[in-house]
Amino acid sequence: MRYRLASEPLFVHCCHCLNCQRQTGSAFVINLLIEADRVEVLAGDPQPVDVPRDDGSRQRIFRCPTCEVAVFSQYGRPEVLFVRGGTLDDPSGITPDVHIYTRSKVGWVMLPESAPAFEAYYDMRALWPAASLERLDASLSRAQASDRGA
Ligand SMILES: [Zn+2]
Repeated sequence: MRYRLASEPLFVHCCHCLNCQRQTGSAFVINLLIEADRVEVLAGDPQPVDVPRDDGSRQRIFRCPTCEVAVFSQYGRPEVLFVRGGTLDDPSGITPDVHIYTRSKVGWVMLPESAPAFEAYYDMRALWPAASLERLDASLSRAQASDRGA
């Protein structure tokens, strides 16, 4: 499949949790958080696959129908997608804004001073730029309005 992001991501996570390590078979994952309606699928139908997580919740991974690579995920709220940085045409253009779940980070990955790092999750309201929080709130309130049938 092909997709494009209609704007810059809201925020970029580098997640070192064990779920992400297992799913990727690697040491961490790069997730670009972005409003679902800003992920434009150009070709191919992303296939949803629900996978269990260690905390008992489920994560919906959308896979390319041809190569089955995991392209993006939903955790709970459907308004925000977590797009996997390695599926971009140019992954090198992406730098994480935050490192999370560093309690399970492998020892040989050295974190840069330039991005904050947290043992587990973090406070989005404290860390995200104001413009990203405004975009998030706008997309959540659009979702609430459509829940009410407005
Ligand atoms: Zn993770």
